[in-house]
Amino acid sequence: MIDLNQSVQFIKGVGPNNLVLLQKLGINTLGDLITFFPRNYEDRSKPKKINELIDGEEALIEGICVTQMTETRFARNKIMLKMLVRDDTGDCVLTWFNQTYLKNKFKVGEKYQFYGKVSIKYGRIEMVRPVFDKNGLNKNTGKIIPIYPLTYNLSQNKIRSIIENGLKAVLDKLPETIPDYILKTYNLVEINKAIKQIHFPSDFEEYSKARRRFVFEELLTVQLALLSLKSRYDKEVDGIKFDKDVKMSDVINSLPFRLTKAQLKVLEEIDGDMESNKPMNRLLQGDVGSGKTIVSIIAAYKAAKCGYQSAIMAPTAILAEQHMQEFSNVLNKFGVRCELILGGMRAKKRREVLEDLKEGKIDILIGTHALLVEDVEFKKLGLVVTDEQHRFGVRQRANIVSKGMNPDVLVMTATPIPRTLAIILYGDLDISIIDELPPNRKKIETYPVTKNYERRIEEFIRSNVNQGRQAYIVCPLVEENEEFENFKSVVELAEKYQNDIFPEFKVAYLHGKMKQKEKDEIMQDFKNGIIQILVSTTVIEVGVNVPNANIMVVQNAEHFGLAQLHQLRGRVGRGEYQSYCILIYESNSKTTKERMKIMKNTDNGFIVAEKDLELRGSGEFFGTRQHGLPEFKIANLFEDVGILKEVQSLSQKIEESDPKLEKEENTKLRELVEEKFKDRISI
Ligand code: ADP
Ligand code: MG
Repeated sequence: MIDLNQSVQFIKGVGPNNLVLLQKLGINTLGDLITFFPRNYEDRSKPKKINELIDGEEALIEGICVTQMTETRFARNKIMLKMLVRDDTGDCVLTWFNQTYLKNKFKVGEKYQFYGKVSIKYGRIEMVRPVFDKNGLNKNTGKIIPIYPLTYNLSQNKIRSIIENGLKAVLDKLPETIPDYILKTYNLVEINKAIKQIHFPSDFEEYSKARRRFVFEELLTVQLALLSLKSRYDKEVDGIKFDKDVKMSDVINSLPFRLTKAQLKVLEEIDGDMESNKPMNRLLQGDVGSGKTIVSIIAAYKAAKCGYQSAIMAPTAILAEQHMQEFSNVLNKFGVRCELILGGMRAKKRREVLEDLKEGKIDILIGTHALLVEDVEFKKLGLVVTDEQHRFGVRQRANIVSKGMNPDVLVMTATPIPRTLAIILYGDLDISIIDELPPNRKKIETYPVTKNYERRIEEFIRSNVNQGRQAYIVCPLVEENEEFENFKSVVELAEKYQNDIFPEFKVAYLHGKMKQKEKDEIMQDFKNGIIQILVSTTVIEVGVNVPNANIMVVQNAEHFGLAQLHQLRGRVGRGEYQSYCILIYESNSKTTKERMKIMKNTDNGFIVAEKDLELRGSGEFFGTRQHGLPEFKIANLFEDVGILKEVQSLSQKIEESDPKLEKEENTKLRELVEEKFKDRISI
């Protein structure tokens, strides 16, 4: 049997220098080498006629060599080589630099294939530094060529030939890793064929079949690994058993409003987890404004009354402060003590808080990343809540959890993650969903408009602010994304609004580069109604609650992901007033219009997310870059949703019929999963 763990240095073409370069790319073994998949392909299989060439494209031509190579010296010691080739439609000049060994390579009157970048100037057709083959040789041309994700110093040609040699070494000797019945049911290409075809496909259909096989394998492995991780965790780890006699209903009955059915259902699930022996590991998803915070307050109450401390982790100081207020409002009357810990806190105050925490005098500690610092020590940490989870990496979650002994963990997010994705992103968590908004919320009216409406929007804002309301204006910004460099900065825009448009109101701005303290002050002033119009980047995206604000204007809305627009929209409609979301877009593209229409017609975050996923294209699903997602070697969660669904229905069946992968037919799957865990441990 072939040993895939043998070092790549035994492969033909790998000398000491190349070995180092390969290792830099993470290629250590033969197995690494053959699963170093191309990032792209160049189709060098179909020749074009010379008179059909387009300036700037890369193309293949077939031509007869009509002149000898000419040599021109320039710039002291540089040499330019030129040659003319011809087909039945025209002439093309070929140019190389310094490659003098090419001088006698070509014979006048013979036919060759050339592939390279075309340049056409004043009707003169030229190809610079083409690769070539003698007619019929098909070494560098005449086929689809893989392009690998390389760093400098290793050429495409070199890696291609090393991989070719690696493939020769394993030729038809790879053991199949997917059980036969799965290959058949899902129409997957056998491994030996697939590995050859993914690197050197003879056409794109072959390529996509080969790719499908590896994507399927990868997703299936991750999915099964997550499931097994979950069942292992469920069974083996001893958690805290919170007291059944402490009733959540004490808090529930004290609230000025009635919880929704969805909130009650979720609380029941959480209560069940807390009272059970196994540690809670739950993801709570709920649309913006669905009332997740109160759910966490009630859970923390239960922990406190059972003698345990809770840690509540928020992604920003503004949010942490907001939570602090809400938690205190609800829980102070029950004698539960909440404290806040923030990055820029005064040293004396911080010391006091930490001491009290260590002595167990504080029941609930609310904070930002400041919670993660080493000297933050709990006496008896029993519950960890992280809010707006996607801002925290998995590692940070693990870090805070490690401050207790298998505490219960509740992860809350308003990012509506379609179920399919949630299962592969958070497969090791149980999922609860609040799928209902509190009653009497007015539906937010959404208007996508073009820039021509600017005056009318300004008047609309004016009349609302005159009635006592407040408005957000969001624009993308230089600092957050370099691509948006040409956009007016938030500061400039705010000045324009303040000086030219709304001199009678107080306008302020907020962006990511400001000091935390400044941001918090502005936000506080906005909350208190001192500021009426807040111009901002997406820093306000997460969780901020100002019920009096009823207008959200988003400029250049086409640059935001739908899920992100939905989050922004959720900043309004939090009070008793009719609220509006105005999306200003400039693009004329069909997709943009379609996306805007979805925003107008859909107020359910999950549907928005599903549609976003369908339409994606360039729009970023999560808006900002993801943290803590598993990295895939070949699968792309967005393009491969179809395969992901097949994989999930399969793994569900397997989980029901053979959860421990003990059946003979699933032996290979067990090996795949074990291999995966090996990876994890080595990380
Ligand atoms: P999110 O899920 O976006 O974090 P919040 O927890 O901030 O939502 O809740 C938004 C607002 O709704 C808060 O002011 C909260 O007090 C209020 N709220 C929560 N649940 C209910 C309910 N069942 N009925 C009425 N208002 C509620
Ligand atoms: Mg919230």
